[in-house]
Amino acid sequence: MIGISEMIDRIGHGYDLHRMGPGRKLILAGIEIPMPEGLVGHSDADVVYHAVIDALLGGAGLGDIGEQFSDQDPAYKGADSGVLLKRTLELVAEAGYCPVNVDLTIIAERPKLGPYKWAMRERLAELLEVATDAVSVKAKTNEGLGETGKGEAIICHAIAGLAKKS
Ligand code: MG
Repeated sequence: MIGISEMIDRIGHGYDLHRMGPGRKLILAGIEIPMPEGLVGHSDADVVYHAVIDALLGGAGLGDIGEQFSDQDPAYKGADSGVLLKRTLELVAEAGYCPVNVDLTIIAERPKLGPYKWAMRERLAELLEVATDAVSVKAKTNEGLGETGKGEAIICHAIAGLAKKS
């Protein structure tokens, strides 16, 4: 485990959006949240993990999630995005980097994410092998504006700090 006092050599940014739809589970950062509908996608549509994956790949100069895990590949149909995140961490390690911290903003009109933020932080910290205080999960609404504000989609922005492994 690396402390947040470690030097950050790279910063990566990630963004993702998934539409809400019926007959789907809502899974954010690996946490299943009770809702009548969930996010639609080829995999489990975990918009948080996808943004984190893109931030890590971006920081390590490894392209984006679509290059590494094609949504045309039947292997990823219904895939647990936690598995994709673990594979991403292997790729990042092979490139000579390890995560130092991650900061997220999730934009969701509903459900209210406050009760789930701590569980999301803990899950991410465990996967990234960083301290819980090196993972930040912030949640906001879109003030009712646009598709996201109508509850038709959930968005996640992520930034990851990476250290060069010695
Ligand atoms: Mg996605």
